[in-house]
Amino acid sequence: MSTIFSQIVEGEIPARVVYEDETTMAFLDANPLAPGHTLVIPKDEYERLNDVPEDVAADLYATIHRMVPAVEESVDADATTVAFNNGEEAGQEVPHVHCHIVPRFEGDGGGPIHAMFGGPADLEDDELDDIADEIESRA
Ligand code: 5GP
Repeated sequence: MSTIFSQIVEGEIPARVVYEDETTMAFLDANPLAPGHTLVIPKDEYERLNDVPEDVAADLYATIHRMVPAVEESVDADATTVAFNNGEEAGQEVPHVHCHIVPRFEGDGGGPIHAMFGGPADLEDDELDDIADEIESRA
């Protein structure tokens, strides 16, 4: 079964499409967190970031790079929060990779990404060293 975003790509359900090329598309979020809240997707259906092939990932970033200033200028935003919820446990509701571009305004109360958590994780130096080693060995 295709995702709701694939149905938008196919024109089966309406959306306010603001950009489209061969491999990517951008459209307004149906439940905007701020005026101009835009989603950028690969047209093909991939659930998680690392399911996206490298060439499509490059196209996706190019579209994000194009859309951030377009969105900011259109709604006179001071900044943007640009984010992916990557996986269900991270809050991803639609299993089709999408980048949120959320316009931000001074005093909008949204806070930084750090506001999602109560505070920094309690980790000792040796744990941080081990984690860094594990990540480095896989990079
Ligand atoms: P997620 O929580 O998966 O990161 O974000 C999914 C986003 O898709 C939400 O912000 C939600 O408002 C948006 N959304 C869900 N269904 C539709 C839809 O049918 N059309 C559009 N334009 N946005 C949608």
